[in-house]
Amino acid sequence: MSYPDTYYRRTLADDRRRPALSGRADCDTIIVGGGLAGLTTALELARAGRAVVLLESESVGFGASGRNGGFVGPGYSAGEDVIARAAGDRAARDLFHLSVEGMDYIRSAIRDLAIAGADPVPGVLSVRRYASDGADLRAHVEAMGRTYGYRLDYLDTDELRGLLHSQRYFQALRDPNAFHIHPLNYLRGLAAEIERLGGRIFEGSAATEARLDGAEKVIRTAGGEVRAARAVITTGGYTGALVPRMARAFQPIATYVMLSEEAPDLIATAIATRHAVGDNRRAGDYYRLVENGRRILWGGRITTRAASTDGLVRELRREMLTVYPQLAGLKTELAWSGLMSYARHLMPQIGEMAPGVWHCTAFGGHGLNTTSIGGKVVAEAILGQSDRVKLFRPFGLVWAGGQAGRVAVQLTYWKLQAQDWWRERGTARGAA
Ligand SMILES: Cc1cc2nc3c(=O)[nH]c(=O)nc-3n(C[C@H](O)[C@H](O)[C@H](O)COP(=O)(O)OP(=O)(O)OC[C@H]3O[C@@H](n4cnc5c(N)ncnc54)[C@H](O)[C@@H]3O)c2cc1C
Repeated sequence: MSYPDTYYRRTLADDRRRPALSGRADCDTIIVGGGLAGLTTALELARAGRAVVLLESESVGFGASGRNGGFVGPGYSAGEDVIARAAGDRAARDLFHLSVEGMDYIRSAIRDLAIAGADPVPGVLSVRRYASDGADLRAHVEAMGRTYGYRLDYLDTDELRGLLHSQRYFQALRDPNAFHIHPLNYLRGLAAEIERLGGRIFEGSAATEARLDGAEKVIRTAGGEVRAARAVITTGGYTGALVPRMARAFQPIATYVMLSEEAPDLIATAIATRHAVGDNRRAGDYYRLVENGRRILWGGRITTRAASTDGLVRELRREMLTVYPQLAGLKTELAWSGLMSYARHLMPQIGEMAPGVWHCTAFGGHGLNTTSIGGKVVAEAILGQSDRVKLFRPFGLVWAGGQAGRVAVQLTYWKLQAQDWWRERGTARGAA
C-alpha cells in the first residue's frame, strides 16, 4: 500500500490492496481522486445503482483525507459572517445546516456500515488562551442557538482547567455534537462498501490525460482508459495539471501533525478529557488523545512552501510545552504533513464546470464534514434528486493568485500568529 508513515497507517483495520487500471473500462461516472470527496460521491452513486469507476494515483486515502486530525465539526473554512456576506443570510443558514448534515453522514456511515477502527469519540472543545470575562463567548452560544438551532456549551475557567490542566487556558466552548475519528479507517470502510455495491476502485492509477469536452468523457492512465457519460474531479490539495481550470483555482497549503510516544500516566497529568481540543487563536493548534489516552496526536502550523517536517515539529512541540510544561519528558514518536486545498474565498468549490464535468474540491482545513456533504450533493445533482449543489454557486473556481497568492497566504498566516502572540502577551502581563 502506498501511504506515508502516519499513526493512521500504523493502525489500519484492513490491508486490502486494489489493482491498477489495465485496459478499457466503461461506466456511468468516472471519479478522479480517492479522498473523502471522491469516495463519498462514488458511494452515493453506487447506492443508487450507478456504475462508477474511481481512479486513485496511490492508495485510497493517500491525501489529506487519510492523514488529518480526525476532527468532525460543523461549518466551513470560511467563517459564517464571510459566507453570509457572499451568499446572503438565508443561504448561509442553509449551508450551515448542510455542514451539520455532513457530520451526521459520517456518524451514520460508521454505525450503519459497522466500519471497524473508525473509533468515533464525542465532543470538541474550542479553548481561549487569553483572559476575558467570556461575555462574547456566551453571546456566541446564544447566537448559534438562535440563528442555526445549534447547541454549544460555555465552560468557565475552573470547569475548563478541571479537564485541561493548563494555566494557558481561560474559557472554552464545548460542541457536544462534534466528534473525532480515525479518518483512514473510516474512508477505507467507504471504499469497501462501494466495491460491495459493484463500484470499481483502481489504485496506483494516476489520471494523466482527460478528454472532457464531448458527450463521452475519457480519462487515461498509464495502463488504460475509462469512458463515461460524466466525470467528477476530486483531487483536493494534490490536484495537478489534469484539469487546468482547477489547477489555477487553488493554493496547496501544507500542515503538520505529530504523535507522542505511549505515556498514559504522564499524559493524564495534563489532559483529563477524551474530547478533542482546538485553541481559538487565528493560527491555532489542535490535539486529541488516541489509543484510549495512551498517546497525544497534536497538529498545527501551515506553510505554503516546502518546509522541513522536523523543523515544524520542533515548533509544535515547543507550543505543546508552553501549554503543558508537565509534558517536557514526553517524546515525539512520529510526525507527518499533508496538503490541503484552499480557494481564494476559503469555501469548497463544488459544481458542474462544463456539461457532465463536476468538481468537488478545496475543502481547506475543514474537510471531513464538508467533503461528505459535498460528495452527497454532487451525487444528488447527477441523479436528478436535488439541486442543493447550487448553494455553492457563489463560490466558484476563481483564480487563486498563483505564486503571489501563495506568498500572500504565508504572510497572512505569520501576521495572524503575531497578532495571537501580542494578545496573549497582554494576558501574561495582566497576570504578572
Ligand atoms: C494534516 C491535516 C490535518 C487536517 N485536520 C483536519 C481535521 O481535523 N478536520 C477536518 O475537518 N479537516 C482536516 N483537514 C482537512 C481535510 O483532511 C481535507 O479538507 C479533506 O480530507 C480533503 O479531502 P479531498 O477528498 O478533497 O482531498 P484528498 O483527501 O487530498 O484526496 C485527493 C486524492 O486525489 C488523488 N489524486 C490527485 N491527483 C490525481 C490524479 N491525477 N489521478 C488519480 N488520483 C489523483 C490523491 O492521491 C489524493 O488521494 C486536515 C488536513 C491535513 C492535511
